Amino acid sequence: MGRMTDKADENMPEMRGNLVYRCIACGTPYDIYEFIYTCPRCRSLLKIENIEFDRLRETTPARWREIFDSRRSTNILELSGIFRFHELILPIIPIADIIYLGEGQTALVRANQELSAWVGAPFFVKNDGFNPSASFKDRGMASAISFLNHVIRVKRLDKVLGICASTGDTSAAAALYLSYLPKSKVKTVVLLPKGKVTAQQLSQPLGSGAIVIELPGVFDDCMRIVEELAQDYRVFLLNSKNPARIVGQKSYAYEVAQQMRWQTAALVVVVPIGNAGNITAIMEGFLDLHALGIIDELPVVLGVQSHHADPIVRWQESGEFMPVKVTPSVAQAAMIGDPVSFPKVKQLVENHFKDKFYTIAVTETEIMEGMLTANRNGHVVCTQGGESIAGLKKALALDLIGIRHRFVVDSTSHQLKFASFQQMYFDDTLGSEYGIETREEYKNTPVSLEADPGKIAAYLGLQKKTDVST
Ligand SMILES: *Cc1c(COP(=O)(O)O)cnc(C)c1O
Ligand SMILES: [Zn+2]
Repeated sequence: MGRMTDKADENMPEMRGNLVYRCIACGTPYDIYEFIYTCPRCRSLLKIENIEFDRLRETTPARWREIFDSRRSTNILELSGIFRFHELILPIIPIADIIYLGEGQTALVRANQELSAWVGAPFFVKNDGFNPSASFKDRGMASAISFLNHVIRVKRLDKVLGICASTGDTSAAAALYLSYLPKSKVKTVVLLPKGKVTAQQLSQPLGSGAIVIELPGVFDDCMRIVEELAQDYRVFLLNSKNPARIVGQKSYAYEVAQQMRWQTAALVVVVPIGNAGNITAIMEGFLDLHALGIIDELPVVLGVQSHHADPIVRWQESGEFMPVKVTPSVAQAAMIGDPVSFPKVKQLVENHFKDKFYTIAVTETEIMEGMLTANRNGHVVCTQGGESIAGLKKALALDLIGIRHRFVVDSTSHQLKFASFQQMYFDDTLGSEYGIETREEYKNTPVSLEADPGKIAAYLGLQKKTDVST
């Protein structure tokens, strides 16, 4: 018994960290306990930096892999989600402050032969729809709200207003995680573009008890309002501008590496891009592992956008970044023309992923066909997952990326959140602005029959058992 306890303790996180916010442009560090989201000097984005990161090198790469692998079977709930990688996420917060609602450790599902053949190579789907609010946003909320919980305790805060703008999933995740904190201390407000989130997404913050404010316009308009509020009023901003979210979203990369048995050579990770928080976090996550020698090689990252909202693809093609005015996309959660985290993407690509970063634009028709085909082959991917799959198919067809790689495709949320797009496709009610050509072979509708076994058998063309020679 004694030995087992020792073994467990060996794998418990040690506090090895000293965190600061660091401006990505001018480099100024700021106190991590301040509520700031952009550099007060130059207005640029901030990131969370562990200025004692080098102390993590006191542990060998092999030992890190062993620690993270051993935590797969931990019965400490708080360490069974994204905080399996506690030392790489928020090493200053004690385990008691962690809010764990079941996020992270999402399944890696192998594409079957039919789907692999359709796409052009064998691949895996890592489905982040298997998170508590059914999107990857829970990863970042688990870190941001655990951090908020920690700050509330340490600073004895009394009244906190958590606020975010959203294309739907951020608000669902924010409202869920904040609803776990004491209601006497914490209020939640979410700003949504009216009519531009699905009914399922709207039901989530409402069900979690948040104040839901609908505004005219698209996400980019809501984001501007929230930024002004965060600048002028004391609020806890929960958009991906808040670096406490990005650190949690890095866990996607850690999990991919672990699920690939830490073998990241010739690996390609395919990610849909909206505000670019997710792809930033994924690149940063792989960088952490690489810096500690836990993986030998950085993977290739392939970002996918709809041609109706493709500022990052255009930047890659032209070398110049310009926000675009978005037009309707079924990948609605990624329908963003002026991605907040673009400066981080630029820096990461220039400094670390120069020959390892690709982007591709896909059409709305390709996105729908990607989703529908995947889901007819055992998956439950959303439109953004369909976008990723369509991006991989196109990148292979164009020979942008060679087939001799291993591919992991990020399905960022669950099919059911975006079921309305599937329904509109089946009913041919998607507006012409999407530019989608539907095909009968992808459609499916329920059949109404009388409750009569004979008639159902006749409809299905079944043969009677007695007629079948055995
Ligand atoms: C938020 C979101 C995205 C886009 O992620 P970014 O971090 O904004 O790039 C993609 N898919 C889904 C389902 C999302 O909720
Ligand atoms: Zn600055």
